Amino acid sequence: MKKTLFSAAKPTGRLTLGNYLGAVENWVQMQDDYNSIFCVADLHSLTVPIEPSVLNDNSNAVFANYLACGLNPDKCVIYFQSHLKAHTEMGWLFNCLTHFGEANRMVAFKEKMQQKKEVLVGLFDYPILMAADILIHDAEVVPIGEDQRQHLELARTLAQRFNNKYGETFKIPTGLYPKIGAKIYDLQNPTKKMSKSDEDTSGTILLEDKPDVIVAKIKRAVTDSDTRIIASNDKPGVTNLLTIYSKLTNKTIKEAEQHFEGANYGKLKAETAEAVVETLKPVQDKFNYYMTHKDEMYAIAKQGVEKVAKYATNKVDVVKEKMGLICPK
Ligand code: AMP
Repeated sequence: MKKTLFSAAKPTGRLTLGNYLGAVENWVQMQDDYNSIFCVADLHSLTVPIEPSVLNDNSNAVFANYLACGLNPDKCVIYFQSHLKAHTEMGWLFNCLTHFGEANRMVAFKEKMQQKKEVLVGLFDYPILMAADILIHDAEVVPIGEDQRQHLELARTLAQRFNNKYGETFKIPTGLYPKIGAKIYDLQNPTKKMSKSDEDTSGTILLEDKPDVIVAKIKRAVTDSDTRIIASNDKPGVTNLLTIYSKLTNKTIKEAEQHFEGANYGKLKAETAEAVVETLKPVQDKFNYYMTHKDEMYAIAKQGVEKVAKYATNKVDVVKEKMGLICPK
């Protein structure tokens, strides 16, 4: 029996190189080894103000990029989160299992609260919905970026708490973090993660960016006044470029440092840009195909949700009953 794996990205924007290297690329490698379930976390996108047409377009684009990056519907399940009601239902039940102080400790919320003018309750609540996303499937393996570690801890805590209080019900999920490239940083502000939700995209490489745009963004990437090409804490910009380069060329950071020994930042930037453009070219061709063949995408999504709905819905019913709710017979 293969273990169940679950992961998702929220369509608050278009997928970035950070999403690819920190998440989707790993999903593609793991889809053979696990009972893999991936969703477009569209409900999570509503946690920040977003125009309906933008959300709609982003949701299509994220789904298309999942397929373009190599997720194969013959090997894994892919669906839109809002098509499976069990997510929100379990989310509410978990709201009533989570202490306010626990939710209030989430660093991602605090960071976002400082940046945003309009802070929605949904943004505060989203780690709890994320716990529901994982636990309705009894996912044991959750491949995510380093930025999601604290949220996964909450999911583990809630699963354990429920099991202790109401009897064995959930499997305890484990996070799977990529070794290098766990976190890709903004090219203009390399101490901040590269994020698809940023309005200013000058430091963000989108999977849909044209080659000339990619080259220009990497050329303008922040480095430092020193000239050595090494990975270290006091050189976040250079370290970020080395990380991207090494991930895309299957080199270790050490090998990448050796490759650039004695070279200048121009060479580092040019070769990093080339690696990004080469990697994204086939992805972009497939992406364009799916964005112009949406019916094919929707058929895949329908098939996907049908495969997991019964298990997830049953899980919610079990939880409701254990919590004392009367289930219709
Ligand atoms: P999100 O962008 O928050 O919807 O996250 C989708 C997935 O991409 C999660 O597994 C994140 O951990 C991962 N991810 C997002 N941004 C980055 C980044 N800059 N570096 C590495 N992983 C990332």
